[in-house]
Amino acid sequence: MVVKTKILSSKDSENIRACADIIKSGGLVAIPTETVYGLGANALDARAVASIFVTKGRESDNPLIAHIADADDVKSLVSEIPEVFEALANKFWPGPLTLVMKKNDTIPYNVTAGLDTVAIRMPNHKVALELIKTCGCPVAAPSANPSGKPSPTKAEHVLYDLDGKISYILDGGECCVGVESTVLDISGETPQILRPGGVTFDELKAILPNVKIYMQSETEELKPRSPGMKYRHYAPKAPMTAILGKPEKTAEYIKSCLCNCKGNKSAALMFSDYAFDHPNVITFGSSDNYEMQANRLYDALRMFDDMDITEIYAQVPDEQGLGHAIANRMKKAAGDRAVDLTSVL
Ligand code: AMP
Ligand code: MG
Repeated sequence: MVVKTKILSSKDSENIRACADIIKSGGLVAIPTETVYGLGANALDARAVASIFVTKGRESDNPLIAHIADADDVKSLVSEIPEVFEALANKFWPGPLTLVMKKNDTIPYNVTAGLDTVAIRMPNHKVALELIKTCGCPVAAPSANPSGKPSPTKAEHVLYDLDGKISYILDGGECCVGVESTVLDISGETPQILRPGGVTFDELKAILPNVKIYMQSETEELKPRSPGMKYRHYAPKAPMTAILGKPEKTAEYIKSCLCNCKGNKSAALMFSDYAFDHPNVITFGSSDNYEMQANRLYDALRMFDDMDITEIYAQVPDEQGLGHAIANRMKKAAGDRAVDLTSVL
């Protein structure tokens, strides 16, 4: 059924209650979190969860994250609590860290895409926490966009993407982190980062000296440990090329691509301190400000969709700290299109 989608202000607590009622009765609502907006449903209701996959056009082998409002709620969803759980939850929850643990029978298999593990997170957003508490159930919530597109970081992004597909978007303002959570698997012997995100490798290493970054081997291509990472994601409409290397070199390269011939419909995503004056250049923070780059990335990628352009060149940050997650999303958005200038001095 086609509906007119409405944006509801989260400042009115009646609106939060109304959205919780929809989720409790098996419906979907777009909700704010500190990472990106999520498309929320009752994580214990397999039918409601199935409608997330339909609404997003998400592949059924890509598992969802269950969002909770209290770290203790984990106990009702997993079959065993790993030893490291408490230290991690104390330090990083609420926050952009998702923990993968062995599931129990409460969580339906469509949430976990058939896996025996479940991904759980407690978001650091007042509205999200109040909504989840009011629902009284864990809320499964992937990003509130059609699969493959850049994630939404504002209520208006969700409206643009899902208008007519859901009844309500709960507006909690702009998402402050701007990239998705770090996914950390603590279900096995060695903790492994399956997806870089808002909590960095160094922050995790301080608590888990043996933490590893999971690298997918070629033999695993069809059934990777972090299934969502095999898909092209976060992509603007025009093809994008990731330009890797020192910012002065990547800026020089991009300038030569955009300024070489008249009538050229190329565009660029650049650091503000390396950008040049050109109508098709969009900036996303200075080269040394990863927080700003993460916060601006998806909004900037979405802007290209409204421009008359045929290709995009993007300056990619180095992979230090939060730069790891930003570079990961930009490379995914580019598919396999990359120019590597890292060896150019
Ligand atoms: P999102 O698309 O941001 O909702 O993130 C969900 C991602 O978390 C998936 O695409 C997977 O990469 C990862 N994930 C979720 N559940 C699991 C799980 N049980 N095991 C491994 N990775 C998972
Ligand atoms: Mg997503």
